[in-house]
Amino acid sequence: MNKAGLGWDIHKLTEGKPLILGGIQIENSKGCEGHSDGDALIHAIIDAILGAAGLGDIGEHFPDTDPQYKGISSMVLLRAVNEMIQEDGFRILNIDANVILQSPKLSPYKEAIRDNIASALGLELNQVNIKAKTAEHMLGELGSGDAVVAQAIAYIE
Ligand code: MG
Repeated sequence: MNKAGLGWDIHKLTEGKPLILGGIQIENSKGCEGHSDGDALIHAIIDAILGAAGLGDIGEHFPDTDPQYKGISSMVLLRAVNEMIQEDGFRILNIDANVILQSPKLSPYKEAIRDNIASALGLELNQVNIKAKTAEHMLGELGSGDAVVAQAIAYIE
């Protein structure tokens, strides 16, 4: 049976923090606040995969009150979730995602992000798609570059 799952995440951007999206460091003066590395894109993808497999959400599996996840790379969590669904007999068919970030432009990083996610999940490049959007300077903190939003869908069988 094929199943789809949806993920969404938002992180505040703060001066002096590293901005990591899709496991790739993006050059920017502001970065993500978060208990982990604050990688909103990977968090959205994790929720999409968990959703497709009927396994709840990222907060249930990796609580932000648990010190073992403090500062952890979200790529580690992504790989763990992929193993989790494989144990249940599922495999990912494709991942598609939107990243809404006012600045900087993500286009120079898009292929590296895609490659990083595909290799972490053991997928071919054409099974992972990342779309970079801005907020057209609207939607409050998102449009002023003080937040990043990511949306993802995962299709599994
Ligand atoms: Mg998050």
